[in-house]
Amino acid sequence: MRKSSQRLNNASPARTSTPQLLLALETSCDETAIAVLRDRELLVSEVASQIAEHAKFGGVVPEVASRNHLLHAPRLLERAMRDAKIDIAQVDAFAATSGPGLASSLMIGASIAKGLAIGFGKPYLAINHLEGHLLSPFFGEAEIKPNVSLVASGGHTMSTFVRNIGDYEIIGRTVDDAAGEAFDKIAKLLGLGYPGGPEIEKHAPNGDPSRFDLPRSMPDSENFSFSGLKTAVRYLLPTLRGDFLADVCASVQAAIVDVLVSKTIDAAKQHDVDLVTISGGVSCNRELRKQMGEACRHHRLELKTADPWLCTDNGAMIAFAAMSKLQSGLSSRVTEEIDPSLALAENWRTASAERRRNSA
Ligand code: ADP
Ligand code: MG
Repeated sequence: MRKSSQRLNNASPARTSTPQLLLALETSCDETAIAVLRDRELLVSEVASQIAEHAKFGGVVPEVASRNHLLHAPRLLERAMRDAKIDIAQVDAFAATSGPGLASSLMIGASIAKGLAIGFGKPYLAINHLEGHLLSPFFGEAEIKPNVSLVASGGHTMSTFVRNIGDYEIIGRTVDDAAGEAFDKIAKLLGLGYPGGPEIEKHAPNGDPSRFDLPRSMPDSENFSFSGLKTAVRYLLPTLRGDFLADVCASVQAAIVDVLVSKTIDAAKQHDVDLVTISGGVSCNRELRKQMGEACRHHRLELKTADPWLCTDNGAMIAFAAMSKLQSGLSSRVTEEIDPSLALAENWRTASAERRRNSA
């Protein structure tokens, strides 16, 4: 893993007694987000979504995303200061997502945060977007307990053994589509809107989850695979007549939830933790929360989830990860570059190599 943190000069790992103000920007993809924390208390969290701007192109266009970040960020910054009732000069540290994500988008948030840190002579913290998701179930808390974390979003599906803040080991990753990507692509096949997860979740309760026997791929691996499910639905749809939407949605949701739950529970048992955490956009899914909750109870594991507003991309989770680091005496160099494929853990590359072998 690239070294992304350094000890602050003269900083003690112990928390300081005066409350610290931290401002974070998240611009890794198509959402411009800003948040301000006073210690671990959230003062403000603003998100400007660009869904409408990209919808007409049928996907995220990097150039459109970065232009919109340039437009939204200064406005959000001004509004955040006003709503938090603070002056930007009072902020003690500035943070931004430095990867993974779109290079031209990451650059906007990171450049603003670095500029502010340099201008005001304050620390800068470069935060991994996935670390933001992974720590979000602990939002507002002072201690990160060892756990097995499932991050399931539009771009990533990953289980991680979390020993402590900054001490992560990848257990499994998707070899193809992410869980959220599968929801989105299948929703598109069904003629439903974007994002697809909430759309499928809306229809699923009216359907029979056992009507279609859809694939649960790679049952014996710690990695995940969802593209076979999408293909199965693609071939299934032309054979169907009549009213099938709710049954397909229920069966798709069941297939995705089944895999996420069983692999996460297996990983928790294998790593001998007593806590499971779930985060990322897909963790908003009520059936996933219900099934994961039941499985955890059955296996005597505690389950921690982030509040739904913290599950999809936001600045608050980046601010929280940054504050946790800052208060452990860590910061980043302002020369720290953004990295579109930023590693989360030492074994990130090994996990990628494994992923290539498995998908070969
Ligand atoms: P990313 O950071 O990769 O853009 P997010 O964490 O913002 O992803 O999550 C967005 C993804 O979460 C989308 O793929 C969306 O379909 C999925 N999602 C959001 N809500 C739900 C839900 N209720 N059920 C299933 N998937 C959901
Ligand atoms: Mg995300």
